[in-house]
Amino acid sequence: MEHAPTLNTTHLMPITTRPSLIMARGKGSYLWDGAGRQYLDLVQGWAVNCLGHCPDVIIQALHEQARTLINPSPAFHNARYLQLADSLARLSGLDHAFFANSGAEANEGAIKLARKWGRLHRGGAFEIITTHNAFHGRTLATMAASGKPGWDAIFPPAMPGFTKVDFGDLSAIEHAITDRTCAVMVEPIQGEAGVIVPPQGYLRGLRELTHARGVLFIADEVQTGIARTGKMFGHQWEDARPDIMTLGKGLGGGVPLSALMARAEVSCFAPGDQGGTFNGNPLMTAVGCAVVDTVSEPAFLAAVEQRGEQLRARLRDMGSRFGFTDVRGRGLLVAVTLGSAHAEKARDVALDQGLLVNAPRPNTLRFMPALNITAQEIDDAMTRLESVLASVGV
Ligand SMILES: *Cc1c(COP(=O)(O)O)cnc(C)c1O
Repeated sequence: MEHAPTLNTTHLMPITTRPSLIMARGKGSYLWDGAGRQYLDLVQGWAVNCLGHCPDVIIQALHEQARTLINPSPAFHNARYLQLADSLARLSGLDHAFFANSGAEANEGAIKLARKWGRLHRGGAFEIITTHNAFHGRTLATMAASGKPGWDAIFPPAMPGFTKVDFGDLSAIEHAITDRTCAVMVEPIQGEAGVIVPPQGYLRGLRELTHARGVLFIADEVQTGIARTGKMFGHQWEDARPDIMTLGKGLGGGVPLSALMARAEVSCFAPGDQGGTFNGNPLMTAVGCAVVDTVSEPAFLAAVEQRGEQLRARLRDMGSRFGFTDVRGRGLLVAVTLGSAHAEKARDVALDQGLLVNAPRPNTLRFMPALNITAQEIDDAMTRLESVLASVGV
């Protein structure tokens, strides 16, 4: 018998609302709470556990590395971060990597790198064009870069230097580029906004436009990278290699690890410009190596696409009966728009029935399961979702 721990939140900052339960353990696509109740998990730590909960390859990497070397200090090289930098460079075609601990920190580094490049190579240009409804993180700079409505007013003064345009609109970017612009930064698919897939040709067009106008193209692949969309990186769907790319979420398979990647020509940090106490530590980067080796296998990537197609087909079928207005996504980053604003209610009822889904908007449900979820688990999850939607009456 599992003993349910008591829930006492007296000493926590109230940064969000959470259900009144404590998650206790996980395996693959399943989570169990402290009372032993099982949940089929299509959220996976916010698209983080790309190999599911507690996968053997990560357990093994952590075990072996913890026994060998946890942190020699950021003043020394370690074999694991060298290996991970090599792998990511080979897979992305971007020459240099810097490792950090969160997506926001990687994006903060991308902003610094673009500003430094603008100072050195574009007459002091420092502005970065970003998009409405974008999500780039929760530091002061990445909040300013994000296009979340209201986010510029919470912690004034907002950091200057960001210009916003509509996502998916290439000509808006073309018109927004000035002598002050050093870079354009976009997510290949807007994740937190509700899985907004841009029009075909947008990324390729951005690549060509930024090249022609002499500014940098930054791809925030924190959510779309590491096989989430069925390719190793989301920009590869349009062969639109960026100058700077950030990775996070799935890179660590559940542990805190992110990366900033850049072409050698724009990689202009000098010693002292960038760093961090925990950055590139071998414990986390050993996990990154295990994750990248696993998900970059062609058979693994093909399976992500197949499972994504299966998921979208089931959702389209359900949508015709429940009045969804849209089913969209790539690979295993998928969302639906309901015909009503009952997404949060559906999420809560699903939780009660042992199914975890995410509601990023009042009318949007998002699915970001483990990339190695089985066909049977998707089938099971969709059957459960149907009964949830029927009882909610969306
Ligand atoms: C989650 C996310 C971030 C922020 O990552 P953190 O690890 O939470 O700091 C940045 N960009 C995108 C596209 C994300 O999805």
